[in-house]
Amino acid sequence: MNPLKRREIFSRLRAVNPKPTTELNFSSPFELLAAVLLSAQATDISVNAATRKLFPKANTPKAIFALGEQGLIPFIQTIGLFRSKAKHLIETCRLLISHHDSQVPQNREALEALPGVGRKTANVVLNTAFGEPTIAVDTHIFRVSNRTNIAPGKTPLEVELKLLKHVPDDFKRDAHHWLILHGRYICKARKPDCPNCLIADLCEFKTKTPSLLEPDVPKRTQARASGPVAEKSKRGRP
Ligand code: SF4
Repeated sequence: MNPLKRREIFSRLRAVNPKPTTELNFSSPFELLAAVLLSAQATDISVNAATRKLFPKANTPKAIFALGEQGLIPFIQTIGLFRSKAKHLIETCRLLISHHDSQVPQNREALEALPGVGRKTANVVLNTAFGEPTIAVDTHIFRVSNRTNIAPGKTPLEVELKLLKHVPDDFKRDAHHWLILHGRYICKARKPDCPNCLIADLCEFKTKTPSLLEPDVPKRTQARASGPVAEKSKRGRP
C-alpha cells in the first residue's frame, strides 16, 4: 500500500473520531493496567462489568493485594481464565508495591516483567495511560492491517513493527484505537461490513462483502466505524 493511501485512511478514521480511546473503563494508570490484564481473551464489556464492582472497593496495588486471590476472585469470576488472572494480578500488585512504590512504571521492560503483562498489554498501558506512540496489535488490528494491506504480517509483532514504520507520525499515537474500533465494529472477523466502510475505496482486500443496496441508495454514514463516540459520551466514560 502506498503512503498516500495510508495517510488518507487515517485521515478519514480521525475525521469521524478525533479523540479515540479504549473501551475499558479506568481512571488511573493502575486501573488501566488491571483492566487490560483482566481483558485477555475476554470482552471489554465483561471486564467493565467486573471492574465496576471491584474498583470502588479496591483500585490501588495495596488495596487489591490486601484482598488476596480468594478475596479478588468473587469480583472477577465472570471473566474467562479468572483464576490465573487473579494470581497474576495479585503478584503484579506485590511487585508494584515492592519495586515501584505502588506506581505503574512508564517503561516497557519493567511492565513486561510483571506477571500476566506481555508486549501487547505493555503497549496499551504506554499508549493509553502515558500517551506514548506505541501500537498494541490485538486480533482486530491484526485482521484489519492484513485485510487492508496497511501493514501485512504473519505475526502480531511483524504487523506492529510495520505499523510503527509506516503509520505517519501524526497518527501514530491514536492508530491503535482507530484500528481496533474499525475491526470491532466494521471490519468484523466473520463478515466485514464493506458496504458501510468509509475506507472501502482504499482497502486492498480482494474479497470485500458485496453491497445489498441499490447503487443509487446513499451509503449510511459510518457512525460506529471508528468508535462509538456517541455511545461513550452517553455513558460518561473517559
Ligand atoms: S472494505 Fe471491508 S475488508 Fe476493507 S477495511 Fe472495510 S470492512 Fe474491512
